[in-house]
Amino acid sequence: MSDRNPATGPVVEGPHDPEHDPTASYALDRAYVADLTHRLVATSGRTEEVRSPIGDQPLAHIPQSTDADVEEAFRRARVAQGSWARTPLDVRADALLRLHDLVLDRQAEIIDLICLESGKARKHAFDEPLHIALTARYYARTAHEHLDSRRVRGVFPLLTRVEVNRLPKGVVGVISPWNYPFTMALCDGLPALLAGNAVVAKPDAQTILSGLFAAALLEEAGFPADLWQVVAGPGPEVGPAVVRRADHVCFTGSTATGRQVAQGCAERLIGCSLELGGKNPILVLRDADLERAAEGAVRAAFSNAGQLCVSMERMFVADQVYDRFLERFVARTEAMTLGATLDWGNDMGSLVSRRQLEVVTAHVDDAVAKGARVLTGGRPRPDLGPFFYEPTILEGVTPDMTCFGQETFGPVVSAYRFHDEADAVARANDGEYGLNASIYSRDGGRARSLARQIRCGTVNVNEAFAATFASIEAPMGGMRSSGLGRRQGSEGVLRFTETQSVATQRVTRVAPAHGLSDQTWGKAMTLSLRALKKLGRA
Ligand code: NAD
Repeated sequence: MSDRNPATGPVVEGPHDPEHDPTASYALDRAYVADLTHRLVATSGRTEEVRSPIGDQPLAHIPQSTDADVEEAFRRARVAQGSWARTPLDVRADALLRLHDLVLDRQAEIIDLICLESGKARKHAFDEPLHIALTARYYARTAHEHLDSRRVRGVFPLLTRVEVNRLPKGVVGVISPWNYPFTMALCDGLPALLAGNAVVAKPDAQTILSGLFAAALLEEAGFPADLWQVVAGPGPEVGPAVVRRADHVCFTGSTATGRQVAQGCAERLIGCSLELGGKNPILVLRDADLERAAEGAVRAAFSNAGQLCVSMERMFVADQVYDRFLERFVARTEAMTLGATLDWGNDMGSLVSRRQLEVVTAHVDDAVAKGARVLTGGRPRPDLGPFFYEPTILEGVTPDMTCFGQETFGPVVSAYRFHDEADAVARANDGEYGLNASIYSRDGGRARSLARQIRCGTVNVNEAFAATFASIEAPMGGMRSSGLGRRQGSEGVLRFTETQSVATQRVTRVAPAHGLSDQTWGKAMTLSLRALKKLGRA
């Protein structure tokens, strides 16, 4: 049962008759939608319809932003940022703690919106308010640790006092995808706000209401109204308009678009952090607990119907346990409950769109046509929803098949045998990506030592992805074509700051003084360098 509260929630409760009630065919109350969309800076007069993957029902008409609207959003954000940067750090951190409570209190409403916009199962939507609560608490509680000015060693002990300040960059552009529409719109922006920045957010068009709801919660938590602007419109138009104006860009999405964003940032000499695609490997070693590995593999491959940047699409299993593991993994996959509804109880929901369904279908059909075997799944399920696809396990996938190296971003995983671990690591490192990996073994020490050989930004031992993802102190991001920079941890907040060193020189100057010639000064400096080294100074 859903824990929705129809009295305060957004969902239109039936029965409705389209002939007499204009909202009948809409899944969301129109006044509720208008309350969210009024936050957009969007004056074009154009709107775009958003439909839910659950039953392809219309959800809302979204006003679209022009280039001038993006300009206006940045203007407002810059004004708000000026006074926000002067607001004491503790006040900023307190707002994050209030946000923590709000997302937990309002989780039913958040989850309803996420499910309606993305079609995912309720239990996977729950991960989003959970991730925001974890992120808000972590950054609020560690604010001083990351952002306080700190003293560092000066060139002359006692005579040179140096402090390093962390200044906000200004206005950060956050461009986010549809797959985790609430947390991806919000999680990077929270440390940006804490560091004294403002944000202009451009959520994906399919899931913009979740992004707007995030903005509403920030205001309710006490962040100044203009500090977080939201713009809407086609990615290839509005995305570059954000990149042209931001002081730092935080992009989450495909590697292809990430490269374009990086080029735009390079031209302006601004920083960017890019969280991109993956073709993530899971390794099941011969000493793995097979039940535990099979349970983890289901979550690794099929969470959010595989539309998760850190989900696993390649599975390398030790020869000695391959058959026993696959038997368990297939059985658990076949026991999953599938459904596109708002209630708890589904193990997997719908894909987000027809486009995703077409990609998934094309990858599986291509593999099967070239000789891959389907161990389970392998079919769209229109009986469950227009964009539904079964969780699918393939075997016998070869390099000529699209799904061998390309990201499917759907519920499709390929199983491969390996004979020795060095070979498994080499195959895991194959390809252009390097986002996330998982290793199952009873020997934690050996698994951790293998982890260091894997070229991925995160490696989970005896867990699919959640151990690193939910450990907010641990930096998260991709190596190689999976990204640039890291979210979470100190790197996740310091990227939104400019480092400024302020040195105050006392008594003597850093140049010849007291009548010394340049030559004598050179000799004195040489002596002092040797002495400082002997004293063990860095
Ligand atoms: P996408 O690159 O098409 O879109 C992502 C965002 O970029 C959207 O808001 C879109 O409107 C915008 N956009 C589109 N064109 C743009 C342009 N030219 N300039 C600026 N912005 C533009 O990606 P998608 O298909 O929506 O998302 C799926 C991809 O995202 C997958 O590859 C997945 O692996 C990746 N992803 C990565 C992470 C991570 O943390 N590494 C998380 C979620 C998703």
